[in-house]
Amino acid sequence: MTQEFKPDVIIIGSGVGGGSVARQLVGSGAKILIIERGDFVPNEPENSDPEAVYTQRRYRTHEEYQDEAGNRYRPSQYYYVGGHTKWYGTAMFRFRERDFSEVRHEDGISPAWPVSYGDLERWYDEAERVFGVRGRAGIDPTEPPRSAGYTHDAVPHEPLIAEMAERLARQGLRPFPNPVAIDFGPGGSCIRCGACDAFACRYGAKGDGETRLIRPILNHPDVRLWTKAQATRLIPASDGRIAAVEVLCEGQLSRVEARTVVLSAGAINSALILLRSANEAYPDGIANRSGVVGRYLMNHHLTGLVGFMPFRVNETKFTKTMAINDFYYGLPDDPDAGGNIQMLANLKGPMISSNIPWMPKRMADVVARHSVDWLCMSEDLPSAASRVRLLPGDRVEVAYYPGGLAAHNKFVGHVRTRLRKIFPLVLHRPSGIKGPVHQCGTVRMGDDPATSALNNLCQSWDHPNLHVVDASFFPSSAALNPALTVCAQALRVGARLRDAWREGKLAA
Ligand SMILES: Cc1cc2nc3c(=O)[nH]c(=O)nc-3n(C[C@H](O)[C@H](O)[C@H](O)COP(=O)(O)OP(=O)(O)OC[C@H]3O[C@@H](n4cnc5c(N)ncnc54)[C@H](O)[C@@H]3O)c2cc1C
Repeated sequence: MTQEFKPDVIIIGSGVGGGSVARQLVGSGAKILIIERGDFVPNEPENSDPEAVYTQRRYRTHEEYQDEAGNRYRPSQYYYVGGHTKWYGTAMFRFRERDFSEVRHEDGISPAWPVSYGDLERWYDEAERVFGVRGRAGIDPTEPPRSAGYTHDAVPHEPLIAEMAERLARQGLRPFPNPVAIDFGPGGSCIRCGACDAFACRYGAKGDGETRLIRPILNHPDVRLWTKAQATRLIPASDGRIAAVEVLCEGQLSRVEARTVVLSAGAINSALILLRSANEAYPDGIANRSGVVGRYLMNHHLTGLVGFMPFRVNETKFTKTMAINDFYYGLPDDPDAGGNIQMLANLKGPMISSNIPWMPKRMADVVARHSVDWLCMSEDLPSAASRVRLLPGDRVEVAYYPGGLAAHNKFVGHVRTRLRKIFPLVLHRPSGIKGPVHQCGTVRMGDDPATSALNNLCQSWDHPNLHVVDASFFPSSAALNPALTVCAQALRVGARLRDAWREGKLAA
């Protein structure tokens, strides 16, 4: 770590939020320091070994959180250059137009965003290009308007998935190609190794935060990346600006100053950093005059379904080529009971036994070989009671009260009934907040400083030189994978910061 480089902008976190802002700022003349708590994922055989990833939890944080009842656990949080996209399933969806408006449900309200789909459309387009998303426009029945098609055509189905699509179409559904960020096709680096969703790619074929955002800018003279450097607190000045970031690196605490700070440590960690920065002037934490920081944590309701085929083996390497949105706006008799259906990874035995501990390992291996695996995803409605909190001794509490779960379970029941027409046995397993894969909402943006922490450009209402740009800015979770929306808004914010820098108006 060298101290000679004097940054104009500090970006905390190298995930899709932080990386996208950095990408926009490069070339503006601003000196950018990216502070990343983790290191690069080492390229090693264990990357694609389910035993190492799931049973031994080789890459997972060793931190402990506790739930609202005080039960401690080791969360599925991963700290690496590129953030959680190193492990993600590459499904890159745009949210629908309605997802940005207020929608009232029986179990709560999905609040409006301070930006519309129209505000984000050109940034979605750019985000898809940056991540190399492969898809086909015009087939998804809920697809929002697009100014252009995908740059790359959809990844083709392997035979079993094509058969599934046909059989579901015969049920009257409209399966469509899942938009995925995979460098697959002629000249592409994807070799269909079979370890993708939930594994770090050994071949650089996954469009993730490292390959698409960080690596391409690393050699620029205005960029520095500090790895294994953990931002612990933001230090406010007496005039309300953020004066410095406190960083823990190699056991040493130091302060780094910059004109502007972009906090992109992920929804749980960004909230924790703001809360941990409390002092006499800001007793409830930084950017928290509204009291919302840490609250409204959402994660999607995610249920995995395993369609068991006793007499067939699933040889599919890359399953995630199909999705279904026919029930995105609910079931015919219940508009709340809906969401997205997409393929899960082709599950491996250790992935099943780590989720269903009572299942003997050999049985899990058999189920894995003979199954086709699905994911039902529904909106998680925000609640102020679902919150990330710091307890004495810097312990972390994640209290979670999922909103809309009964409606999700009804949706899952409907999907199971349909899958039972294909498979003699369909097992299902919900995942919870201990694996906060789609964590969001803890530093929400809005139009009103009394009820939100950030304005519609992710700028803190309380500290003009602080932007919080990761999934924590989501006011609602929609029912689609979040990464493309984080990227689109981060590109939008980054472009504004770049223009402000060029005009000499970057908040100082
Ligand atoms: C297994 C899995 C599958 C997924 N599949 C999909 C999918 O198919 N499609 C999709 O859209 N989304 C998917 N997601 C979710 C997606 O990966 C996240 O929504 C997205 O990566 C969030 O980006 P972010 O920038 O908000 O935060 P993060 O990716 O969490 O980035 C935050 C960064 O900050 C760093 N950091 C944290 N604390 C500190 C600190 N104190 N100091 C410095 N650095 C810090 C972290 O190490 C990390 O690099 C998946 C996630 C997982 C885990």
